[in-house]
Amino acid sequence: MATKCPNCNAFNQTTASVCKKCGADLNVRQPIETEVKTKPPWWKRIVGKK
Ligand SMILES: [Zn+2]
Repeated sequence: MATKCPNCNAFNQTTASVCKKCGADLNVRQPIETEVKTKPPWWKRIVGKK
C-alpha cells in the first residue's frame, strides 16, 4: 500500500509523513482510498455510452 503525494503525485510509503520527492506533508490527505471514490461506478461507463 502506498500514499500518493498530493503535490507531485509521487508514491510514498504509507508510514512516510512527508513526500520523499518534494517534501510535501502527506498527512493532509488520506491514502489512495479517497482517489477511488472520485471515480464513477463501473456501470455508469456502460450506461453513459450510447
Ligand atoms: Zn511530493
